[in-house]
Amino acid sequence: MHLGNMALEELIRPEGHTCACGRHHGIGLKFLRIGSDAVETLPEAFGVLGCKKPFIVCDENTKKAAWYFVKPVLDKAGVAYQLHTIRRAHPEPDEETVGEIAMAFDPACDCILAIGSGVINDCCKVLARAVGKPQLVVGTAPSMDGYASDSSSMIVRRTKSTLYNACPQVIIADTRIMKDAPERMLQAGFGDMIAKYVALCEWRMTALINGEYFCEEIAGMMRASLKKIMESAPRMMEGDEQAVGAVAEGLILSGIAMAFAKISRPASGLEHYFSHLWEMFSLDRGLPMELHGIQVGVGTLLCLRLYDKIRTLQPDAETFEKACSAWDTDAWKKDMRRVFGGTADGLIEKEETAWHNNDAAQRRVRFEKIRENWPQLKKIMEEELPKTEEISSLMQKLHMPMLAKELGWQDGDVQDAFCLSRNARDKYLTSSLLWDMGVLEDMARDMRAD
Ligand SMILES: [Zn+2]
Ligand SMILES: [Zn+2]
Repeated sequence: MHLGNMALEELIRPEGHTCACGRHHGIGLKFLRIGSDAVETLPEAFGVLGCKKPFIVCDENTKKAAWYFVKPVLDKAGVAYQLHTIRRAHPEPDEETVGEIAMAFDPACDCILAIGSGVINDCCKVLARAVGKPQLVVGTAPSMDGYASDSSSMIVRRTKSTLYNACPQVIIADTRIMKDAPERMLQAGFGDMIAKYVALCEWRMTALINGEYFCEEIAGMMRASLKKIMESAPRMMEGDEQAVGAVAEGLILSGIAMAFAKISRPASGLEHYFSHLWEMFSLDRGLPMELHGIQVGVGTLLCLRLYDKIRTLQPDAETFEKACSAWDTDAWKKDMRRVFGGTADGLIEKEETAWHNNDAAQRRVRFEKIRENWPQLKKIMEEELPKTEEISSLMQKLHMPMLAKELGWQDGDVQDAFCLSRNARDKYLTSSLLWDMGVLEDMARDMRAD
């Protein structure tokens, strides 16, 4: 059995997969179609769920993009439905949008059909959970990897929050619709995919350093998808359906990989923390929020450049001892409060009562692991990471933002996000590795927004 060679239908089979990693992998996704004319399978999808009347949610843009394809299919199959078009021009994933669709929801409907990408899918996941109905999604843009994930990235009381619901039971990605997605959204999808190189590299490394769970089969599945995407990416902006389909597939597979692993590691690493922290800065400063995948793309390039330097390093006992004796908890708390604002105290408390990532004894254990395994760690970097120039030239070809400055960030925003990423959650990141080695601040000084 190799997950990387499986057709999508086989991958999502209800009985799941018993894996060489010792776990059983499965996902609640019941129906998945990617390709030209995928929308035509909607009636079949309703049949699989045993649903008759969908509550359909879209906004003006996604309606323009997809309704023209969806409506005739529903009419021809005689499917009754209730359609709600979100009023705001650029809906945010917040209380207002969820409130609006909840108020419009007709209880005679037996499922929710989201027509859209990130925001609409996320809001519909929340509604589907609240009303206890299954959810379907017709994707309009291959812009992020949340289609198959069981969580929604929401703004709750103006704070970024992850809400756990359930993954949609049906995902339909029609490349006739997706190929015409706005350029920025196609770029974002590619940005969220190149992140997987860093994520996989970090995932394998943490297995060595921290003894964390790692599954070679799931990693292999992501690598196979990345290969396909790299080959077709240059044609994505020319409206090439096959290229757009490859990216859409990679993004949906990322969600499946996370569900299989029950952690975000197959799809998200340090590069995502640049985006997480920048989003937090945007909310704090009242700035408009950039698309997730665009920020992640810039974060990936920052990480690849960082890794070019990490590969030249050597864990050094003297540097480590110096960093340990220079560690100043009060200064760290001050930094945390400056960067995380209102959420800092909660994070500090978690660190002190549960995570203990700053604990000197544990740091020493990890440092020894790093030192022992340095040749293997370097080998993992060689095997998992693409050449920085290969990625940057592809990004250039796709006219993607490549520098944090292009997104409005200064050197300090890049360095803050980098240095404190390791304290944002209990997750071992590349920045944690560098902190363990005592070189985090040295590396941060060279990080630039331009
Ligand atoms: Zn496995
Ligand atoms: Zn992502």
